[in-house]
Amino acid sequence: MIIIKSPTEIVLMRQAGAILAEALARVRAAVRPGVSTAELDAVAEEAIRSAGANPTFLGVIQHPRQMPFPATITASINEELVHGIPGSRGLREGDIVSIDCGVTYQGFVADAAFTVAVGAVAEETQRLIHVTEQSLWEGIEKMRLGNRTGDVSFAIQRHVEKHGYSVVREYTGHGVGRTMWEQPQVPNYGVAGRGPLLRPGMTIALEPMVNMGTAATKVLPDQWTVATADGKLCAHFEHSIAVTKNGPLVLTLP
Ligand code: MG
Ligand code: MG
Repeated sequence: MIIIKSPTEIVLMRQAGAILAEALARVRAAVRPGVSTAELDAVAEEAIRSAGANPTFLGVIQHPRQMPFPATITASINEELVHGIPGSRGLREGDIVSIDCGVTYQGFVADAAFTVAVGAVAEETQRLIHVTEQSLWEGIEKMRLGNRTGDVSFAIQRHVEKHGYSVVREYTGHGVGRTMWEQPQVPNYGVAGRGPLLRPGMTIALEPMVNMGTAATKVLPDQWTVATADGKLCAHFEHSIAVTKNGPLVLTLP
Protein backbone atom coordinates (compact mmCIF):
# COMPACT_ATOMS: atom_id res chain seq x y z
CA MET A 1 0.00 0.00 0.00
CA ILE A 2 1.30 3.44 -0.93
CA ILE A 3 0.73 5.98 1.85
CA ILE A 4 -0.31 9.42 0.59
CA LYS A 5 0.83 12.35 2.77
CA SER A 6 -1.27 15.41 3.48
CA PRO A 7 0.15 18.87 2.77
CA THR A 8 0.71 19.28 6.54
CA GLU A 9 2.67 16.03 6.67
CA ILE A 10 4.75 17.10 3.70
CA VAL A 11 5.66 20.31 5.56
CA LEU A 12 6.96 18.16 8.44
CA MET A 13 8.90 15.96 6.02
CA ARG A 14 10.41 19.08 4.48
CA GLN A 15 11.53 20.17 7.96
CA ALA A 16 13.10 16.75 8.54
CA GLY A 17 14.74 17.10 5.14
CA ALA A 18 16.17 20.53 5.90
CA ILE A 19 17.73 19.24 9.13
CA LEU A 20 19.24 16.34 7.20
CA ALA A 21 20.53 18.66 4.47
CA GLU A 22 22.28 20.80 7.07
CA ALA A 23 23.82 17.73 8.74
CA LEU A 24 25.06 16.41 5.40
CA ALA A 25 26.48 19.83 4.47
CA ARG A 26 28.49 19.83 7.70
CA VAL A 27 29.75 16.31 7.01
CA ARG A 28 30.74 17.28 3.48
CA ALA A 29 32.65 20.28 4.83
CA ALA A 30 34.49 18.01 7.28
CA VAL A 31 35.65 15.53 4.61
CA ARG A 32 39.40 15.85 4.13
CA PRO A 33 42.47 13.59 4.15
CA GLY A 34 43.09 12.23 7.65
CA VAL A 35 39.56 12.53 9.03
CA SER A 36 38.03 9.26 10.23
CA THR A 37 34.53 8.16 9.34
CA ALA A 38 33.74 8.03 13.09
CA GLU A 39 34.56 11.74 13.27
CA LEU A 40 32.21 12.40 10.34
CA ASP A 41 29.55 10.40 12.16
CA ALA A 42 29.93 12.60 15.24
CA VAL A 43 29.50 15.73 13.11
CA ALA A 44 26.22 14.39 11.71
CA GLU A 45 24.86 13.22 15.07
CA GLU A 46 25.58 16.59 16.71
CA ALA A 47 23.88 18.48 13.88
CA ILE A 48 20.78 16.28 14.02
CA ARG A 49 20.35 16.16 17.79
CA SER A 50 20.99 19.89 18.23
CA ALA A 51 18.12 20.50 15.79
CA GLY A 52 15.78 18.44 17.98
CA ALA A 53 15.71 15.46 15.64
CA ASN A 54 16.92 11.85 15.87
CA PRO A 55 19.27 9.78 13.69
CA THR A 56 17.05 7.26 11.90
CA PHE A 57 19.71 4.67 11.10
CA LEU A 58 20.87 4.19 14.70
CA GLY A 59 19.65 0.76 15.87
CA VAL A 60 18.20 -0.36 12.52
CA ILE A 61 18.17 -4.11 11.88
CA GLN A 62 17.53 -5.47 8.38
CA HIS A 63 17.80 -9.17 9.15
CA PRO A 64 18.30 -11.24 12.32
CA ARG A 65 22.00 -12.02 11.77
CA GLN A 66 22.92 -8.36 11.91
CA MET A 67 23.93 -6.29 14.87
CA PRO A 68 21.76 -3.17 15.13
CA PHE A 69 23.35 -0.40 13.05
CA PRO A 70 25.60 1.45 15.52
CA ALA A 71 25.85 4.93 14.00
CA THR A 72 24.13 8.00 12.54
CA ILE A 73 25.62 7.84 9.05
CA THR A 74 26.75 5.05 6.81
CA ALA A 75 30.19 5.79 5.37
CA SER A 76 31.33 3.67 2.44
CA ILE A 77 34.81 4.15 1.00
CA ASN A 78 35.89 3.53 -2.63
CA GLU A 79 34.64 0.05 -3.68
CA GLU A 80 32.20 0.10 -0.75
CA LEU A 81 28.78 1.14 -2.02
CA VAL A 82 26.41 1.50 0.93
CA HIS A 83 25.92 0.63 4.62
CA GLY A 84 29.57 1.05 5.68
CA ILE A 85 29.96 1.32 9.46
CA PRO A 86 31.85 4.43 10.61
CA GLY A 87 35.09 3.72 12.42
CA SER A 88 38.68 4.77 13.00
CA ARG A 89 39.74 4.37 9.35
CA GLY A 90 41.07 7.69 8.10
CA LEU A 91 40.19 8.98 4.67
CA ARG A 92 43.12 9.38 2.28
CA GLU A 93 43.75 11.77 -0.57
CA GLY A 94 42.28 10.19 -3.71
CA ASP A 95 39.58 8.19 -1.90
CA ILE A 96 35.91 8.72 -2.50
CA VAL A 97 33.39 8.33 0.31
CA SER A 98 29.63 7.81 0.16
CA ILE A 99 27.69 9.20 3.10
CA ASP A 100 24.07 8.16 3.68
CA CYS A 101 21.95 9.46 6.54
CA GLY A 102 18.38 9.51 7.83
CA VAL A 103 16.66 11.99 10.13
CA THR A 104 13.46 11.46 12.10
CA TYR A 105 11.66 14.67 13.08
CA GLN A 106 8.12 15.02 14.41
CA GLY A 107 7.46 11.40 13.45
CA PHE A 108 8.65 11.69 9.85
CA VAL A 109 11.79 10.45 8.13
CA ALA A 110 14.04 12.09 5.54
CA ASP A 111 16.70 10.04 3.75
CA ALA A 112 19.56 11.36 1.59
CA ALA A 113 23.07 10.48 0.47
CA PHE A 114 26.01 11.79 -1.53
CA THR A 115 29.44 10.68 -2.74
CA VAL A 116 32.38 13.06 -2.50
CA ALA A 117 36.05 13.01 -3.45
CA VAL A 118 38.69 13.29 -0.72
CA GLY A 119 41.13 15.87 -2.07
CA ALA A 120 42.16 15.36 -5.68
CA VAL A 121 40.91 12.23 -7.49
CA ALA A 122 41.38 10.84 -10.98
CA GLU A 123 39.28 12.47 -13.69
CA GLU A 124 37.43 9.21 -14.36
CA THR A 125 36.51 9.01 -10.68
CA GLN A 126 35.11 12.54 -10.73
CA ARG A 127 33.13 11.59 -13.82
CA LEU A 128 31.57 8.60 -12.01
CA ILE A 129 30.45 10.88 -9.18
CA HIS A 130 29.05 13.47 -11.59
CA VAL A 131 27.13 10.95 -13.72
CA THR A 132 25.62 9.33 -10.62
CA GLU A 133 24.39 12.67 -9.27
CA GLN A 134 23.08 13.62 -12.72
CA SER A 135 21.17 10.31 -12.92
CA LEU A 136 19.39 11.16 -9.67
CA TRP A 137 18.24 14.47 -11.15
CA GLU A 138 17.16 12.72 -14.36
CA GLY A 139 14.92 10.56 -12.16
CA ILE A 140 13.63 13.49 -10.09
CA GLU A 141 12.64 15.30 -13.27
CA LYS A 142 10.30 12.39 -14.12
CA MET A 143 8.47 12.55 -10.78
CA ARG A 144 5.48 14.31 -12.26
CA LEU A 145 1.76 13.59 -12.33
CA GLY A 146 0.83 11.28 -15.16
CA ASN A 147 4.14 9.44 -15.03
CA ARG A 148 4.70 6.04 -13.45
CA THR A 149 7.55 4.82 -11.28
CA GLY A 150 8.89 2.95 -14.31
CA ASP A 151 9.43 6.27 -16.07
CA VAL A 152 11.64 7.37 -13.18
CA SER A 153 13.55 4.06 -13.11
CA PHE A 154 14.04 4.08 -16.86
CA ALA A 155 15.40 7.65 -16.89
CA ILE A 156 18.00 6.80 -14.25
CA GLN A 157 19.10 3.61 -15.96
CA ARG A 158 19.33 5.25 -19.37
CA HIS A 159 21.55 8.03 -18.09
CA VAL A 160 23.88 5.67 -16.21
CA GLU A 161 24.26 3.17 -19.04
CA LYS A 162 24.72 5.92 -21.64
CA HIS A 163 27.94 6.73 -19.80
CA GLY A 164 29.13 3.13 -19.70
CA TYR A 165 28.40 2.40 -16.03
CA SER A 166 26.26 -0.25 -14.34
CA VAL A 167 23.14 0.12 -12.20
CA VAL A 168 23.06 -1.91 -9.00
CA ARG A 169 20.06 -4.24 -8.86
CA GLU A 170 19.94 -5.43 -5.24
CA TYR A 171 19.07 -2.08 -3.63
CA THR A 172 16.41 0.35 -4.75
CA GLY A 173 14.70 3.62 -4.08
CA HIS A 174 11.65 3.42 -1.84
CA GLY A 175 8.70 5.23 -0.36
CA VAL A 176 9.55 7.18 2.79
CA GLY A 177 7.34 8.69 5.48
CA ARG A 178 6.63 7.64 9.06
CA THR A 179 9.12 4.85 8.46
CA MET A 180 12.26 4.71 6.35
CA TRP A 181 10.91 2.03 4.03
CA GLU A 182 7.45 2.27 2.53
CA GLN A 183 5.93 1.22 -0.76
CA PRO A 184 6.58 1.63 -3.60
CA GLN A 185 9.99 0.27 -4.42
CA VAL A 186 11.58 2.33 -7.17
CA PRO A 187 14.47 0.44 -8.77
CA ASN A 188 17.20 2.32 -10.61
CA TYR A 189 16.41 0.29 -13.71
CA GLY A 190 13.12 -0.44 -15.39
CA VAL A 191 10.65 -0.03 -18.18
CA ALA A 192 8.99 3.31 -18.98
CA GLY A 193 5.21 3.27 -18.57
CA ARG A 194 5.21 0.48 -15.96
CA GLY A 195 4.68 0.56 -12.21
CA PRO A 196 2.41 2.62 -9.95
CA LEU A 197 1.07 5.95 -11.19
CA LEU A 198 2.59 8.95 -9.43
CA ARG A 199 0.01 10.85 -7.38
CA PRO A 200 0.15 14.05 -5.29
CA GLY A 201 1.34 13.31 -1.76
CA MET A 202 3.53 10.34 -2.65
CA THR A 203 6.94 10.69 -1.00
CA ILE A 204 9.84 8.68 -2.39
CA ALA A 205 13.55 8.39 -1.69
CA LEU A 206 15.31 7.98 -5.03
CA GLU A 207 18.85 6.64 -4.74
CA PRO A 208 20.83 5.57 -7.79
CA MET A 209 23.80 3.32 -6.96
CA VAL A 210 26.24 3.22 -9.83
CA ASN A 211 29.22 0.94 -10.42
CA MET A 212 32.16 1.67 -12.68
CA GLY A 213 32.46 -2.06 -13.46
CA THR A 214 29.82 -4.78 -13.29
CA ALA A 215 26.53 -4.36 -11.44
CA ALA A 216 27.20 -7.17 -8.95
CA THR A 217 27.66 -6.47 -5.25
CA LYS A 218 28.60 -8.46 -2.16
CA VAL A 219 28.06 -8.05 1.58
CA LEU A 220 31.27 -7.91 3.63
CA PRO A 221 31.85 -10.07 6.75
CA ASP A 222 30.62 -7.29 9.08
CA GLN A 223 27.16 -8.18 7.65
CA TRP A 224 26.47 -4.53 6.87
CA THR A 225 28.90 -3.09 4.35
CA VAL A 226 27.96 -3.63 0.70
CA ALA A 227 30.81 -3.45 -1.83
CA THR A 228 31.17 -4.01 -5.54
CA ALA A 229 31.89 -7.65 -6.38
CA ASP A 230 34.72 -6.67 -8.75
CA GLY A 231 36.35 -4.19 -6.36
CA LYS A 232 35.88 -1.26 -8.74
CA LEU A 233 34.63 2.14 -7.64
CA CYS A 234 30.96 3.02 -7.16
CA ALA A 235 28.89 6.06 -6.21
CA HIS A 236 25.55 6.79 -4.55
CA PHE A 237 23.30 9.85 -4.45
CA GLU A 238 19.89 10.12 -2.80
CA HIS A 239 17.16 12.65 -2.17
CA SER A 240 13.69 12.30 -0.62
CA ILE A 241 11.09 13.85 -2.91
CA ALA A 242 7.36 14.61 -2.73
CA VAL A 243 5.18 14.39 -5.82
CA THR A 244 3.02 17.52 -5.99
CA LYS A 245 0.64 19.15 -8.45
CA ASN A 246 3.42 21.64 -9.13
CA GLY A 247 6.05 19.02 -9.87
CA PRO A 248 8.69 17.27 -7.78
CA LEU A 249 9.46 18.87 -4.41
CA VAL A 250 12.92 17.82 -3.20
CA LEU A 251 12.56 17.53 0.58
CA THR A 252 16.25 17.09 1.39
CA LEU A 253 17.68 20.25 -0.13
CA PRO A 254 19.06 22.94 2.21
MG1 MG B 1 19.64 6.59 2.41
MG1 MG C 1 17.08 5.26 1.11
